[in-house]
Amino acid sequence: MSEEDICERHAWTSVGVVTRDGGVCRIWECENCPVWTAQPFDAEHERSWDETWLAER
Ligand SMILES: [Zn+2]
Repeated sequence: MSEEDICERHAWTSVGVVTRDGGVCRIWECENCPVWTAQPFDAEHERSWDETWLAER
């Protein structure tokens, strides 16, 4: 792989979620080159499962 294989503007697509360093991250990868990144989830926005309607299903 040379640097020419890295695009100027990546075509990000989400490929899943992982835990990393004790936190949750969404993994994004470029459709056109090998670049990927991990987007950390914001802990401030986490809601407890019991507070959601999901828990009542
Ligand atoms: Zn790319």
